[in-house]
Amino acid sequence: MDTENTSQPGSSSGAPAPRPAARPDIHRRPDDSRRPYGPRKHFAPRRKVCRLCAEKIDQVDYKQVQIVKSFCTDTGKMLSRRITGVCAKHQRQVARAVKINRNLSIMPYSV
Ligand SMILES: [Zn+2]
Repeated sequence: MDTENTSQPGSSSGAPAPRPAARPDIHRRPDDSRRPYGPRKHFAPRRKVCRLCAEKIDQVDYKQVQIVKSFCTDTGKMLSRRITGVCAKHQRQVARAVKINRNLSIMPYSV
């Protein structure tokens, strides 16, 4: 009979195997003790800069189709300010330009 068989819980040896040391807290990161376990909920805020302000375009013309189209999806929908990061003033101008271009059938209402 093998005498080194201590891994079995019901082994006949008298002293139970010594328990391992307290398990390290795997749910908590040592570097960030304030944040409890779980996935990261928020990303670091990234500053969005209005592209049109940066390029010093103060008036968006409906004839600048390349610019106006860049604020739309491929299916012809306008992209929101939240996505593009355009300021409110320029978003109003882009929205008006898109609507004019749709009416002139330069840009599609939908694809
Ligand atoms: Zn702007």
